[in-house]
Amino acid sequence: MVFMGTVFAGLAVGFWQKSGSIFYLYNFSIIGASLMLGLGLWPLLPRQHKPWARRLSQILVGGYLFFGLGMGLIHLGFGVILPENMQIEGFWFWLLAGMSAASVLHYAIAKIVGPFIFNRGWCGWACWTTAVLDLLPWKKSPGRIPGHWGYLRYLHFLLVAIIVFVLVKHFHYGLPDTLGIVKFKDINPMNVNVYSSMWHIPELWWFLAGNIGYYGLGIVFACVFRDNRAFCKYLCPIVAFFKIGSRFALVKIAAEKEKCTDCKTCELFCPMDIRLTEYIKAGRRITSSECVICLTCTSVCPNDVLQVSFGFDMSSYDYLRCKISGESQPEREER
Ligand code: SF4
Ligand code: SF4
Ligand code: SF4
Repeated sequence: MVFMGTVFAGLAVGFWQKSGSIFYLYNFSIIGASLMLGLGLWPLLPRQHKPWARRLSQILVGGYLFFGLGMGLIHLGFGVILPENMQIEGFWFWLLAGMSAASVLHYAIAKIVGPFIFNRGWCGWACWTTAVLDLLPWKKSPGRIPGHWGYLRYLHFLLVAIIVFVLVKHFHYGLPDTLGIVKFKDINPMNVNVYSSMWHIPELWWFLAGNIGYYGLGIVFACVFRDNRAFCKYLCPIVAFFKIGSRFALVKIAAEKEKCTDCKTCELFCPMDIRLTEYIKAGRRITSSECVICLTCTSVCPNDVLQVSFGFDMSSYDYLRCKISGESQPEREER
């Protein structure tokens, strides 16, 4: 928690000083404080209520990014509404326009560089999609569908990148077509269109339409597979970014091998179907790039075998639990 707080305080002050904009001080302070609130509550709550600490953090960080930046409401304090498409499509639009606005910074920090340090902590503690999906009733995963369905995520990633690239390069559709500012104090900080209402701003509609699609698919997948995290396992395109850094992440789950009784309770409750005992028997940390650092395993283990740790290691193997003919059955997958 102290480490997390220090990193976000450094980001807040560093970006503020470098850019001269106090927005960055607010922005990273809000995110850092929300994460620290969840992480601080975690050890204080009894085992059965610990997930609420994580959900609180997801709702606060995800809610801030969704409403504050995605819908532009944080900019009210600065006299304008400037929505920004924080979805992956928005990241590509801004990147191709050569501008490092909120979505590019967000992807760079939380999803590209961040995983080298915090692993997929974003997925466990901050994602606005799973802030909703994690509230659905299928919290205990029945196991993954056998086969290589996880590769759909990479196809999705490529498809999104190609669509944006074609729109920008072939149809010359770019940021000037999507941006817009609603003036509240007669301030116009960028040379873009001024609309009479925020609902006329195309950027807002890109963001909302993308989210309606992702939430809709996430809920349908959760219902069909009876698994709240099915969208993360089979369809989320952002996983393509996470997989690069999370293998090398400093933060991972570690086990005291001698205390483990191989009861497999941690595996049954792991929302990402990770076969933790394979790593424990090998004397390794949980190096699976599917781990979202939700800490569920640490709270359900009856012998307190598991805890968060810092270190240098990596693995190219994901040991995952798959279901076969309706039964939960172990299987090894390599990705
Ligand atoms: S895999 Fe995608 S949807 Fe799932 S938590 Fe991570 S970013 Fe969110
Ligand atoms: S291994 Fe533990 S921390 Fe990682 S996803 Fe599974 S339950 Fe969460
Ligand atoms: S729940 Fe604890 S004791 Fe049981 S297999 Fe997992 S780490 Fe070992």
